[in-house]
Amino acid sequence: MTGDQEYQGGENFDLRGMLLRGRHMRLSDRTELFGVFLGELEQNKEMLCLRCITSAADREVDVADPDTGETRPMLMFGSNNYLGLATHPHLRERALKALHQYGAGVGGPPLLNGYTALHRELEQRIARLKGAEDALIFSSGYAANVGLVTGLMQKHDVVFYDAYSHASFCDGLKLAGVPARQFAHNDLAQLKRMLDAQRGLDGGDIYVAVEGVYSMDGDLAPLDELVELCKAYGAILVVDDAHGTGVLGAHGSGTAEHFGVESRIPISMGTFSKTFAVTGGFIAGSKPIIDYLRFFARSYMFSASLSPVCVATILAGLDVLEQEPERLWHLRQNVAYAASCLRRLGFDVNPRAAIIPLHVPKGMDMRKASREFHEHGIFVNSVEYPAVPVAQQRFRISIMATHTGADIDRLVEVIRDVWTPVRSLPAPGADGKEHLHAA
Ligand code: PMP
Repeated sequence: MTGDQEYQGGENFDLRGMLLRGRHMRLSDRTELFGVFLGELEQNKEMLCLRCITSAADREVDVADPDTGETRPMLMFGSNNYLGLATHPHLRERALKALHQYGAGVGGPPLLNGYTALHRELEQRIARLKGAEDALIFSSGYAANVGLVTGLMQKHDVVFYDAYSHASFCDGLKLAGVPARQFAHNDLAQLKRMLDAQRGLDGGDIYVAVEGVYSMDGDLAPLDELVELCKAYGAILVVDDAHGTGVLGAHGSGTAEHFGVESRIPISMGTFSKTFAVTGGFIAGSKPIIDYLRFFARSYMFSASLSPVCVATILAGLDVLEQEPERLWHLRQNVAYAASCLRRLGFDVNPRAAIIPLHVPKGMDMRKASREFHEHGIFVNSVEYPAVPVAQQRFRISIMATHTGADIDRLVEVIRDVWTPVRSLPAPGADGKEHLHAA
């Protein structure tokens, strides 16, 4: 078994490698070099990250143009606010109530002064959502993953993790120094071979770490098969369900519910920065694991708690998940509609959650294409080299329950226009629309 290995997939963001190419440079030289890189992006009008939004996080947002500073409306297809909860009246109301009752924040970490009745209520409700005994809340999903790995895993354990695992999990591995090996994305045969080779680990545990919904491509880990595999080898399955929680399953419990294995996931992790549209992260599991993590996850112990306003907002989001199941249904309808329109245009897409990746074809200048989306008033995220290899660059479309049919039609129209120079598309006149539901 080798030590922790270089992360090669998923959200690896190796700007340092791209910029420095192995050279050692002083800070002043590095910042100068990077300044030149940024300057070129700005000059070519390709600096589309850090776009300044001046309105609420809705299906349509006002965006200040990076060049002119002028604000204009854009359709939002780049947000993880999947159920459109950010602007839901119940969430606004509960946030305001918490602000009045608890004040703006707590000013401390949970083990000291940062634990309110609202924090405990949230832990219990998340545990219930995930079919677990207990849960604990972190200041972010990033902190939850780092706390999970560094708090639980140690040097005589071994971790097998999917190559597309999120950067926060990989950073946790680096920090923990735990022996870890990647298996190719969703390659259970390779994972099985690794588990076979690992039989007889003395005095340590085997962990298998996957994501319910992978953040880049929106595909799923086959949790039904994974629970069986882990059972057969006595391995502990860890599921990061950041993009599945509040999206998949009959009650929005997540990917495990989708596969009917909610009660069989020993450790679930998730975030409040996607469906719940605020910030924060959680880990759900058995009571002994949660009790242990409270004192061993340093990103929990040494970091201030979420503000009660944020916690109350998440609680209100859970209310909505229970009381308005039609939101889940709208989201799924919208995803199905967008996918069918795109398939009619010739795209090979089969989204399982709310993310639709569009791979950048040969011959397309991705930065120019990003600019075109922007100019056509469509906000999408581009996943560019060095976040992924050049051949795997993609646009990531995120669908929301609150998008209208007309929003999706407009998205598809713009995609068709952006793609036209590089791809043969259906006969002129085909608009890709299926008119599945009213605007
Ligand atoms: N895990 C996954 C799979 C994610 O996509 C993200 C967010 N991109 C995180 C963890 C980190 O979550 P947060 O934004 O709440 O820190």
